[in-house]
Amino acid sequence: MTTEKKMLKVVLFTGYACNNNCAFCIDADKRAIPEKTTAELLKEVVKARSKGAYVLEIIGGEATIRPDFNRVVGAAKRLGIPQVTCATNGRVFADPAAAKKIVASGIDALIFSVHGPDAATHDELTCAPGSFAQLKKGLRNLRALGFERISGNTTVVKPNLAALPRLAEFYIKNRISNVEYIFVDPNYGGARNHFKELVPRISKAAPQMRKALKLGRAAGMDQWKVRYVPLCHFKDCLDQISETNERELFLTEHWAPDFRNTDAIGSRAAVGRRKTARCRGCRLFSACEGLWVEYLKNYGDAELKAVK
Ligand code: SF4
Repeated sequence: MTTEKKMLKVVLFTGYACNNNCAFCIDADKRAIPEKTTAELLKEVVKARSKGAYVLEIIGGEATIRPDFNRVVGAAKRLGIPQVTCATNGRVFADPAAAKKIVASGIDALIFSVHGPDAATHDELTCAPGSFAQLKKGLRNLRALGFERISGNTTVVKPNLAALPRLAEFYIKNRISNVEYIFVDPNYGGARNHFKELVPRISKAAPQMRKALKLGRAAGMDQWKVRYVPLCHFKDCLDQISETNERELFLTEHWAPDFRNTDAIGSRAAVGRRKTARCRGCRLFSACEGLWVEYLKNYGDAELKAVK
C-alpha cells in the first residue's frame, strides 16, 4: 500500500519481443530494443516487493515466450507479491505442457488479448496466421487445468468495429467476466504509423463499444469496461470506465527497458490525452481525460460535446 492508501501496481515490461505482430501495437517501433535479462527482472521483482507492490503485471511484447517467464513469476510469488498477473496473446497456452507449467508457477491471473471473434478478424490484426486458433486452444487448456482467473482485453480499431458485438458473445461464451474494450492509442507505434487504416472516429467506435457493454450486462457481466474514451460518448455507462476505477484504486508505475514512469496514470492524463475548448463547462470535466493527442491532431475535436 502507498501512503495515499492506493495500491501500488508495477507493470514490469520484460522487453518488446513478440510472437504476434499486431498492426496497432504501441511497441511496433521498439522491437530492436534489447530484452531485459533474467537477472534484471529478478532484481526488479525484489524491488517491486520492497516498494510494497500489491499487483505485479508482467507484460512484453509477449512475456510468456521467454524461457525465464515461470522463474520470474515464481520469484514474485515466493516474495509474497499478492497479485502477479500477465497480459498475453494466449498462444503459448495452446501447448498443454506449457500451460501446466505456467499455472504451476503461481500466476494469479491472466489477461488474454482478443481482437476479433473469429480467425479472420483476429489474425488479420495480429498479422499472425493461426494465432486465434492457438488462443482458443489456450483458453480450453487453462479451463481444463481449473484455471479460472482469465480476463480479456480488446483493442478497438477500424477493422474490428463491426465485429465487437460478436466478440462480446465470444467473451460471454467463454465466461470471461472481466473485459476491457480499449480505444486504440495512436500516440505511438503501429496505430500512429497507419492512422487512417486503423483509428476509428470515436463517434463510430462508441456505439459499438456501448453495444458490447450492453450485451455483457444482459449476460450478467457487469465488470466489463471501456478505456481511453471521452466520457461524453459514454454517458449511459459511466460506471464502466476503466480510468475512473483505476484512479481510485491504484498508483501505477511502468518499468520498461527504455523508460521508467512512476505515475503512469497521471502522465497519461497530463501528456497523452487532452481536453479542448469544447469541454468548457462540461460536468464530467474532472473525471474525463479527453481524447488522445494524436487523434485530435488528425481528426480534431468536433465530436466532443460538453455534458451539461
Ligand atoms: S466534453 Fe470534454 S470533458 Fe466533457 S466528457 Fe467530452 S471529452 Fe470529456
